[in-house]
Amino acid sequence: MSLISDVAAPLIEADSASLKHADAVIQSIGLPSAGIAVQDPATGETIAHVPDADVEAALEAVATADKAGTVWAKSSLRQRADVLHAWYDKLVEHTEDLAHLISREMGKPLAEARGEVKYGTDFVRWYAEEAVRPAGNFRETPDGGASLLTRRSPVGLAVLITPWNFPLAMATRKIAPALAAGCPVVIKPATLTPLTTYFAVQLAIEAGVPEELIQVITTSKSGAFSEAVLLDPRVRKVSFTGSTPVGRQLLKLASQNVLRSSMELGGNAPLIVFNDADLQRAVDGTFAAKLRNGGQSCIGANRIYVQDEIADDFVAALTERFAQVAVGSGLAQQTGLGALIDDRAVAQMQAYTQNAVALGATLLTGGHGYDSAGNFFAPTVLDRVTEDSDVAQSEIFGPIAAIQRFSSEAEVIDRANATEFGLAGYVFTENLDRALNVADSLQTGIIGINQGVPSNAAAPFGGVKQSGLGREGSAEGLEEYENIRFYNVARR
Ligand code: NAD
Repeated sequence: MSLISDVAAPLIEADSASLKHADAVIQSIGLPSAGIAVQDPATGETIAHVPDADVEAALEAVATADKAGTVWAKSSLRQRADVLHAWYDKLVEHTEDLAHLISREMGKPLAEARGEVKYGTDFVRWYAEEAVRPAGNFRETPDGGASLLTRRSPVGLAVLITPWNFPLAMATRKIAPALAAGCPVVIKPATLTPLTTYFAVQLAIEAGVPEELIQVITTSKSGAFSEAVLLDPRVRKVSFTGSTPVGRQLLKLASQNVLRSSMELGGNAPLIVFNDADLQRAVDGTFAAKLRNGGQSCIGANRIYVQDEIADDFVAALTERFAQVAVGSGLAQQTGLGALIDDRAVAQMQAYTQNAVALGATLLTGGHGYDSAGNFFAPTVLDRVTEDSDVAQSEIFGPIAAIQRFSSEAEVIDRANATEFGLAGYVFTENLDRALNVADSLQTGIIGINQGVPSNAAAPFGGVKQSGLGREGSAEGLEEYENIRFYNVARR
């Protein structure tokens, strides 16, 4: 297959009404006029400033949240549920505001930002429903000599550190279970995309969440923040989503006071397409698993393995889909791929492409940036990527589909598992036995079978190996914020 040219396609410009909408939301947040500058990745323009908190301010936030937490811990389960339901209603009511804000600060297309609002608010609804369920239980010891009363209590003050790629969902996925369990929180959003957290927390307060219970801290000194806050004896829990190297540093700090720790870290997801896959389904699923969020997703398909007999047809169909994607401002209805988060990401995509081609891959579409102030990179397909190339070894986190070919099931399982990461994997086949057998053999916490978007608020999201510890979403996500205790009651 020869290169499909898309170099000439111009970038799509923002819709002015959408820009105005996003800026009106920013104006409503009440932010300072100086501090950390927040930029629109599609234009490079500064759109707001957020406070640059020092360690003192962070510890003050800990003190305030801790005080509010003592009251909240005693609230009834129904009270917590009611407040979360009210927050959910507020977030839903402000769907368009949130979507425009997310798109403006993070770059993703509006349609995807709306999808994130749906996904992110689902966690609030889920934990509003879940809050009243797990009161504990009553058991007998097997020898009959005693009764066991198990109780759940809030783990205590939780420090939540979130990344930039899903500014709303990463925050709600942590705040909602913390509040449902009875914990106060200090949340530190990424400085690249802090506005959505500020706005969502403002809506929480309007909905009746006690004002001191959720403390938002933005700081350019994240290392100093963690060292002070995670060593503070009032803190009992850390939940982090981000890269594995930062996760390791935080775990070291957390070990000091033996904090309950949840780590949602990096991935290197294999996506496997077998000969017997439904071609259309496989192409649609791969397109979503790769290009959703501009490829900037921890569960994004990183190594795409296609079985020999179906490979040419699959590659041709996927390349055609990629070449048709409209690139430009997320704040335009027709955009399919928005800006990447920063110029480093664009340079990284360029380097990945060059490295893969130098090692023998064929570039089929894309592979280039744009002459623009924004951080754009074309949707890219590389075929016959070699296993030693950087796109196969590292988390791409961008719009590059890196395709490799394979011949047998046993071979592809070995190759798929040859990584220290274990977050997500994908299998496309019409054979149920094969789907389940391969899923069982993949060393990942999440598997998409014949689909590219497996996440759901009802599912226990999380990784194995160096992709993390703990789960978010589902009933398991609530347990991350609870201490389980038992009373042994002697019986006569
Ligand atoms: P990152 O680790 O660089 O940063 C994540 C967050 O941590 C940011 O808010 C950053 O400011 C902060 N941070 C960095 N150093 C810190 C420190 N010493 N103390 C406290 N906070 C610190 O990751 P990123 O580039 O923002 O996000 C991309 C990474 O996140 C990828 O590896 C991706 O796979 C991972 N991720 C994982 C999941 C998941 O659920 N497993 C979800 C989204 C992203």
